[in-house]
Amino acid sequence: AAKSAGGNRYQFFSQGLNQQAQERVALEAALREALKKDRLVLHYQPQLELAQGRVVGMEALARWYDDTLGMVSPARFIPIAEQTGLIHELGAWVLHEACAQCKRWHQEGYPVSVSVNVSIKQVMQEGFSEMVVGTLLEVGLEPQYLDLELTESMLMEKAAESVALLRMFKSLGVQISIDDFGTGYSSLSYLKNFSVDRIKIDQSFVRDVTVRDDAVGIIKAIVAIGHSMGLKVIAEGVETRDEQEKLLACKCDQVQGYLHARPMPAAEADSFLERAFASDAGPAGQK
Ligand code: C2E
Ligand code: MG
Ligand code: MG
Ligand code: MG
Repeated sequence: AAKSAGGNRYQFFSQGLNQQAQERVALEAALREALKKDRLVLHYQPQLELAQGRVVGMEALARWYDDTLGMVSPARFIPIAEQTGLIHELGAWVLHEACAQCKRWHQEGYPVSVSVNVSIKQVMQEGFSEMVVGTLLEVGLEPQYLDLELTESMLMEKAAESVALLRMFKSLGVQISIDDFGTGYSSLSYLKNFSVDRIKIDQSFVRDVTVRDDAVGIIKAIVAIGHSMGLKVIAEGVETRDEQEKLLACKCDQVQGYLHARPMPAAEADSFLERAFASDAGPAGQK
């Protein structure tokens, strides 16, 4: 009888919760555990100056390998971390790990910056800027080597608050990039009030650049707007030489993508930097 009562209750819940919600609950528990047990790692993807081929930065991208779930994509676990508040713990860990790695690169003679993706929920939490400053001091990294990437859509969702927030970040001396630019419907009036340093053109535009004529026009326009505001422009998701040549023609400043390297574990990123700084790097296209 007890079994049937329990069974009924279970049935009630399993019908009430749709499968997606159940999955999310399971994923949340596993993510909490992974954070506690230090199971997340960062991979790094180089960012190159287009004209000189110089490596100027490395973007840190979170990776989670779970024994039963396998490799879980950040596209799946970051939204869950955001919804459950785990993003604060996760974000603090990512920031510390990335800054410490960047400091080690400097000690090895590679003066690159590190880009860290942050979510708006995370940066709007009380104490975020103190956490950033504390991490930089603890690790001994100068603030200008830290670049915070915020997506355009996150910024626009909280546009008014973002203006003040970005000014405050600027006062810390860190760099700011607008990620996935072109997908978030920025209004130009906000854009000019956002104190940022760089625009990252979303890979969907890059993908179109060799296929559709109007895509070249769009990229040229984004680059022109960025430059007129004194910003650097980087294109993400660059996979082919053809795309890169088009981007160079559009006066884009920097590139990032599989053409140069996939996101790699720290040890591989070390070797990449070693090679990059050993060879007197020619134009990015000749690599
Ligand atoms: P994102 O910051 O826009 O990162 C770019 C994504 O494109 C990464 O996916 C990267 O692996 C992928 N990518 C890079 N080059 C190429 C290319 O040439 N071709 C293609 N097809 N893809 C390329 P990933 O690593 O799966 O990350 C997805 C998103 O998850 C990121 O987009 C970022 O928004 C978020 N994310 C990753 N790590 C973190 C983190 O530590 N904190 C937060 N808040 N978000 C993160
Ligand atoms: Mg990013
Ligand atoms: Mg992006
Ligand atoms: Mg993205």
